[in-house]
Amino acid sequence: MATDMATDMAGDRSALVLFSGGQDSATCLAWALDRFAHVETLGFDYGQRHRVELDRRAALRAGLVGLVPAWAGRLGEDHTVTLDALGEISETALTREAAIGYEESGLPNTFVPGRNLVFLTFAAALAYRRGLRHVVGGMCETDYSGYPDCRDDTIKALQVALNLGMERRFVLHTPLMWLDKAQTWSLAETLGGRALVDLIVEESHTCYLGERGQRHAWGYGCGTCPACRLRADGFARFSAA
Ligand code: ZN
Repeated sequence: MATDMATDMAGDRSALVLFSGGQDSATCLAWALDRFAHVETLGFDYGQRHRVELDRRAALRAGLVGLVPAWAGRLGEDHTVTLDALGEISETALTREAAIGYEESGLPNTFVPGRNLVFLTFAAALAYRRGLRHVVGGMCETDYSGYPDCRDDTIKALQVALNLGMERRFVLHTPLMWLDKAQTWSLAETLGGRALVDLIVEESHTCYLGERGQRHAWGYGCGTCPACRLRADGFARFSAA
């Protein structure tokens, strides 16, 4: 019994961060390192066209532990889960050679139906195995209202379902839920100062097209896809504030 309690207490201060290598997930990782004693990361490879994002993860992890001394002792293992099936069943611009655009429903055609439900379920299964209680994701209603699986209600409902289905007390955290892109940059500055903003600008990747040729003030990207425009606009507003 005492052993169980000790395990529970250790697990209670541990977290798993959904870490794609983009601006949002890099900010979430810093947020988790600031709060939890032990933090592991998880990336999904599902054949996405902007797979270059995944390749940024090692540089971001290395940069983060070099930034704040306390974070170095907290950052644990990095995991990658391959989800080829998700790529196979999704008919979107991310996994096919199609132009980025918007469906008649108003959803961007980069939308992979239910993607975050799948991600969070796999994350919870891994967290179960690893004895981690907290699961952190960059879902956000503010900038991505077209994605119903990013909604706060969706995440809260899934937390209930996961806890029932796995007989655990997971807590799903979405620190960016009510922030816009400018506020996400501000959060990074609060957590790790200008050095963290610079690290995320330099090493994170957001561009849907996987472009890393041109360096803008806000980082690398094509500059014209919806993800680049959102990131550039947010950085401009953050910089002007
Ligand atoms: Zn782009």
